[in-house]
Amino acid sequence: MDILVIGSVAFDSVETPFGRGDDVLGGSATYFSTSASFFTGVQLVAVVGEDFPDEPRQFLTSRGVDLAGLQTRPGKTFRWKGRYGYDLNEAQTLETHLNVFETFHPELPESYRQAKFVFLANIDPELQLEVLQQVEKPKLIACDTMNFWIDGKRDALIRTLEHVDILVINEAEVRQLADEANLVKASRAVLAMGPKTLVVKRGEYGVLVFTEHSIFSAPAYPLEEVFDPTGAGDTFAGGFMGYLAATNNLSDETIRKATVFGSVMASFTVEDFSLDRLRKLTWTEIEDRFRRFQTLTAFEGL
Ligand code: AMP
Repeated sequence: MDILVIGSVAFDSVETPFGRGDDVLGGSATYFSTSASFFTGVQLVAVVGEDFPDEPRQFLTSRGVDLAGLQTRPGKTFRWKGRYGYDLNEAQTLETHLNVFETFHPELPESYRQAKFVFLANIDPELQLEVLQQVEKPKLIACDTMNFWIDGKRDALIRTLEHVDILVINEAEVRQLADEANLVKASRAVLAMGPKTLVVKRGEYGVLVFTEHSIFSAPAYPLEEVFDPTGAGDTFAGGFMGYLAATNNLSDETIRKATVFGSVMASFTVEDFSLDRLRKLTWTEIEDRFRRFQTLTAFEGL
């Protein structure tokens, strides 16, 4: 089943201890769609400015991403500038220029309105809500956000969360959203806001999946070379949702396997700048790393 995604399509300028990239292709919806496209079709909702070139459109189309919902408006494409220190787990945002997103209102093409799997990637929660109002009867709504929106648009975010089944955010965001330092207590508080499942991304420490009755833990793949963590979270979400949509199954077992597929996809993204590693990735490599994950975590019972 296809996934409908709304999020940012961006030019990123990123500095890491290992190099820098200026105005490279990025954005939450871009990473998400590329990653999910290894599993299923994607319908993208976003806006770009007139400065946005053809090449990324051709690339996304070649990956099976439907761009009927990508508007082009007068003005500049969204831009984000960030920096990572040796602790690659947290980005420091230096600049955020919403540009064409400031006046954007999503209008879903008719062909998108029946979407069963919806992913609200990191973007203004008011736009996330506007998308939900236009989808007829989704089976699963998942959502991401970040400190920028938790700080700046808290009320709208809380309203969005009331409709969300699965929230996928990082550890610091869980604490910030719940205003609670302990992660287990913070997770309970976030689950009380609406989502039935909370997926906590913890960078190189992996992922924790909380439901009311269970906690599942998956490691991150131990890599020798991490160049640029930008997009790891969105790429995780793309693999996670991609697998759920491809199997059209929401059982606990499937959610666990989806968590590992998400982690596999994210482990590739960080190996190179921008989407460069995903552009070269093959399904055989994905399967191979999935098996390595299995070996990494397998142990005998008592
Ligand atoms: P992550 O997966 O968390 O590393 O996401 C990185 C991507 O998020 C970058 O490509 C940015 O363009 C995008 N981004 C950064 N800030 C925002 C924001 N406030 N709203 C939407 N997208 C953002």
